[in-house]
Amino acid sequence: MIPGQFEYARPANVAEALRLLQEREGEAKVLSGGYSLLPLLKLRLAQPGLLVDIRDLDGLDQVIETETELRLGARATHAAIENSPIIRGRYPLIADAASGIGDRQVRNWGTVGGSLAHADPSADWPAVFIALGATIVCRSLAGDRLVPARDWCLGVFQTAIEPTELLVEVRVPRRPQRAGGAYRKLERRAGDFATVGVAAVVRLDQAGRIASAGIGLTAVNDHPFAATEAEAVLTGAQPSDELFYQAGTAAAAQANPTSDSHGPADYKRAMVIEMTVRALRVAVERALAYS
Ligand SMILES: Cc1cc2nc3c(=O)[nH]c(=O)nc-3n(C[C@H](O)[C@H](O)[C@H](O)COP(=O)(O)OP(=O)(O)OC[C@H]3O[C@@H](n4cnc5c(N)ncnc54)[C@H](O)[C@@H]3O)c2cc1C
Repeated sequence: MIPGQFEYARPANVAEALRLLQEREGEAKVLSGGYSLLPLLKLRLAQPGLLVDIRDLDGLDQVIETETELRLGARATHAAIENSPIIRGRYPLIADAASGIGDRQVRNWGTVGGSLAHADPSADWPAVFIALGATIVCRSLAGDRLVPARDWCLGVFQTAIEPTELLVEVRVPRRPQRAGGAYRKLERRAGDFATVGVAAVVRLDQAGRIASAGIGLTAVNDHPFAATEAEAVLTGAQPSDELFYQAGTAAAAQANPTSDSHGPADYKRAMVIEMTVRALRVAVERALAYS
């Protein structure tokens, strides 16, 4: 199908983009990689009056580490994240997720900010940033607003962003010693959206117990969410397969999957347990190796 009519703007800097979003509040839509938005325009499921193409904005595509944080610019593509030496060296959970998104073409065009703003219930990034305790930075003419990744997804394709805001950055706490994470995604074919996706992060204390844990789930609710009951099961406990199974069972109890072409709800619940166990095993191995 052919999209409806819209105006097109290609601002040269962030200030100009923010001014357009403010002036055309509710009518303007940001265009980043276009891999989710363009199909919606063609199907006329989205009919914005103005597209604000953010490809020329400086400083939005960085993948950098400061003393305290890893910072991913909203325009960083999945491929740029996957191939970053920082990510490959110290953030294997993020590399796991980036390398499993779509195919090479999707990863070359799609951006982390676009994925978070689109908030597909089966998207990979939200679960990852939930587990990592990340913060999402939204900018408007009024300044920056920081949203914890846990509070970002509110429902099907619904997030905490305001129409006058641009998502500019994701901030992830720098990886501590004896911490590790992993993302495990069940997919029907390589490159598909997740049938079930589990991101797990653990930090171990000197005695080898789990000092803190983060578990993010995707594709098993109307939006990605934190499996807080599983996190509580893990915190303070000695890692073991039995413990991971208990955590997986707690995560599955918090999930609310629907039966669809990917499989029945009961199957998805069982897969939450299995993917949680697998992600935790690898997360603990990586934590032990990072000290
Ligand atoms: C064939 C295919 C397979 C895919 N497989 C997967 C997969 O396995 N896992 C997965 O997670 N995703 C998958 N995706 C989605 C892909 O990751 C998209 O790249 C992503 O959802 C959207 O990113 P984008 O940069 O293309 O955003 P766009 O399509 O440009 O925008 C998407 C939405 O976000 C808004 N937006 C974009 N950037 C910003 C910003 N900075 N601030 C505010 N709003 C913004 C837009 O207005 C729009 O509403 C797939 C997509 C395709 C087409």
